[in-house]
Amino acid sequence: MLSIVIPIYNETKIITNLYERLTSAGLLWHEEYEVILVDDGSIDDSLEQMVALTRKDARFSVVKLSRNFGHQAAISAGLKTAKGDAVVIMDGDLQDPPEALLSLLEKWREGYEVVYAVRQNRKENIFKRTAYSIFYRLLQRISNIDIPLDSGDFCLMDKKVVNVLNHTLTENIRFVRGLRAYAGFRQTGVTYERDARSAGKSKYTASKLIGLAISGLLGFSMFPLRIAVYAGLFISTTSILIGMTYFVIRVFNIPLFGHYATEATGFATLAVGIYLLGGIILLMLGLLGEYIGRIYIEVKDRPMYIVDEVYRQGEAE
Ligand code: UDP
Ligand code: MG
Repeated sequence: MLSIVIPIYNETKIITNLYERLTSAGLLWHEEYEVILVDDGSIDDSLEQMVALTRKDARFSVVKLSRNFGHQAAISAGLKTAKGDAVVIMDGDLQDPPEALLSLLEKWREGYEVVYAVRQNRKENIFKRTAYSIFYRLLQRISNIDIPLDSGDFCLMDKKVVNVLNHTLTENIRFVRGLRAYAGFRQTGVTYERDARSAGKSKYTASKLIGLAISGLLGFSMFPLRIAVYAGLFISTTSILIGMTYFVIRVFNIPLFGHYATEATGFATLAVGIYLLGGIILLMLGLLGEYIGRIYIEVKDRPMYIVDEVYRQGEAE
């Protein structure tokens, strides 16, 4: 059996369309399947619509979270509930076309345990596209694991991998596509065309998106911490060299830029030096704080989501 996990947050305009596209694509899979819609605290009538779907089609169920916990948490809630031999994660806005599932399934049947979908092109504005592109390339550069380029959460995972995500990789700040790469197993990518959002607006605010990018970068790399070491080394060595230069200039009384060292010049150099160094120190302190904040969150070990109700066939269980 196949499980399909779809996080939903205020997608009322899309749900009927999603149902149609998914069930008609499903005719080609030749596989029994269940669809787990995770309601991530929607405040429109998405929940009512989804519950109505579960009444109409017994393959659909709804996991209602107690409030909005965010996309990654909603996915994790769905993965916990999924019972399939393979689990697919896809967005609810039809940016991940249900028709592409067929090629994911084929690879799984060939024996791959993780089949991630790689976007061929994005139908989003140039600013967002560039930001995404830089992010994925930076992530691949600095992370200790091999996170494939341009692959989002849209993927198919074997039960084995889902078990690892559910029970072994239990960190609270979740970056699912990173954890998936970390898990290992036989992985392969399949390219697809990422569509534009079918209706409504993106539910990722700029700050949520930046938060996700930061959890990807900091969660899978210690490189940012090392920047402080490199910067420290560089600044100390240059300072020693400059110090020695000044010493020589003073002792042999050599004019520098037309001035002798005995004349009190170099105010700008001093001022810039102080502010620049202060800025660098604060920046590094903030970066350190980001890591410490993450330790704090992980140590508190609060649940990453809270399930309110699970609906099957129109009824809350
Ligand atoms: N989503 C969610 N919780 C959130 C934000 C988004 O469950 O806090 C869902 C949303 O309903 C959609 C999917 O996650 O099904 C991807 O979100 P969206 O399309 O807004 O993100 P984008 O594609 O713009 O990055
Ligand atoms: Mg989207």
